[in-house]
Amino acid sequence: MYIAGVQNNSFVDYPGKVSMVIFAGGCNWNCYYCHNRDIINPKKNRVIYSTELLLRNLEAKSNFLDGVVISGGEPTLQPRLAEFMGKIKAACGLPIKLDTNGTDPDALMELIRQKLVDFIAMDVKAPAEKYEKIVGAKVDLDEISRSMAVIKLSGVDYEFRTTFCPELTKADVIKTCDWISQNGKARRFALQQYRPPKGGMELLKPQKAHSKELVQETFDAVRSKFGVAVLRGL
Ligand code: SF4
Repeated sequence: MYIAGVQNNSFVDYPGKVSMVIFAGGCNWNCYYCHNRDIINPKKNRVIYSTELLLRNLEAKSNFLDGVVISGGEPTLQPRLAEFMGKIKAACGLPIKLDTNGTDPDALMELIRQKLVDFIAMDVKAPAEKYEKIVGAKVDLDEISRSMAVIKLSGVDYEFRTTFCPELTKADVIKTCDWISQNGKARRFALQQYRPPKGGMELLKPQKAHSKELVQETFDAVRSKFGVAVLRGL
């Protein structure tokens, strides 16, 4: 397991919840607004934390933590992710949240089957026709749809989330939400205000974040499509 970083953070939007966040290095995409750009190319800036040390740390801190978050990069690219998550469960018994871009529905199914994951947060970046532009890579959209279906049917708690970056319009966000909720209302969705990243702007021309008013108006237009909808970053 290539662990590129560790920090404490909130588990999801529940006040008072504290988790240890583990950053898995490497990503198959190259979103221009990625805030973890330093770790998406595992050959660059390689910082390796020992799995054994991390597990000992987790065991020692388990009384002060509410959960563990595995983020990235894209964690499902790690060939031994299930084994690693099993070790975390054995070391501290804490719930595990997984952040994913949804490119590997089979990996998600396996983690769900083995009861290794307690919360899945999947980014849905854009409507189908804008996906590759936003993520800077070839995308198998059928696999993205399949991941959404796997997550919705899993019985595991989940959230889909979309960053309202400047290249998306209100109509794009509505289309994205319709895609997420096709074949059944999704339980939870977060619309995230765009925050310009440091660097990476060479991929698309930088633009200012949408106004608060537009983000709020867009959120109001999609919130009823979900069981729970949250707005982040305004
Ligand atoms: S999918 Fe996530 S980790 Fe990968 S490049 Fe995009 S924002 Fe960064």
